[in-house]
Amino acid sequence: MTGTLYLCATPIGNLEDMTFRAIRILREVDLIAAEDTRRTRKLLTHFDIHTPLIRFDENCKVSVGKKILSRLQSGESVAVVSDAGLPAICDPGSDLVKSAIDAGITVCPIPGANAALSALICSGLDTKKFLFVGFPPKTKKNCRELLQKLSALEATIIFYEAPHRLKNFLVELAKIFGERRATLARELTKVHEEFLRGNLNELAEKISEPLGEFVIVVEGCTSSEIIAPPENISEVVERFMAQGLDKKSAMREAAKKFNVSRREIYNSLLREETQ
Ligand code: SAM
Repeated sequence: MTGTLYLCATPIGNLEDMTFRAIRILREVDLIAAEDTRRTRKLLTHFDIHTPLIRFDENCKVSVGKKILSRLQSGESVAVVSDAGLPAICDPGSDLVKSAIDAGITVCPIPGANAALSALICSGLDTKKFLFVGFPPKTKKNCRELLQKLSALEATIIFYEAPHRLKNFLVELAKIFGERRATLARELTKVHEEFLRGNLNELAEKISEPLGEFVIVVEGCTSSEIIAPPENISEVVERFMAQGLDKKSAMREAAKKFNVSRREIYNSLLREETQ
């Protein structure tokens, strides 16, 4: 008999979000694999849990992952916890889940707090269709390419970003999605929980030094943004420029021609450049 791999949610700020079941499972398993052992140890102490703990993070995920698998195969049960929220989302837990499934081991969710969904449900944006992207690429070029690919998507988009990168990311978002509405969910479930709502241009300007953790929820592409021009946008802009207009004025004329904003013309040009 093999053991069970439990994916156990932990609070994202407020300890009252710990579930009864999570406490019981963390007490009963043979081993807890934690992304951040210091943080998890505090949590375990708070809930009077004395199960052995092992570090399982990005740096040691291969070697420790093998140890965890062999313990599961020998019949022990293991709980994986992330530094906060649901494990296997933006952390090494997902690799372990794949290996466990391949090895025929039972994988069991212990649901609870999650930053992405908590932000989405309070965003005021469409919750019927959404895409969770997680952390955007770190390089400007890759980030911009991803955003351009996402720009035609009608679903609400959810991002995570580290506090020190938030401002730059918002500036990139504003360049591609400027007029779209967005919600910044800050310090969810904590004392300073806050939701900043507005269009991305406003939000990018407003945020200077972000304090705390953020989830960024961005409105999907709206029908007014979808332009179906009869001709290639860059050709139209070039034609206006050939008539003596500078690029800015040419874009303004193209916007008038298609009855859309200049931002949308700019986005279309960016999209054409990357195609
Ligand atoms: N496993 C987690 C989950 O449930 O989604 C993933 C956490 S991810 C490694 C860390 C990111 O989640 C942070 O950079 C931030 O974007 C977001 N986050 C975590 N806790 C948060 C909180 N209390 N408020 C706002 N965002 C939070």
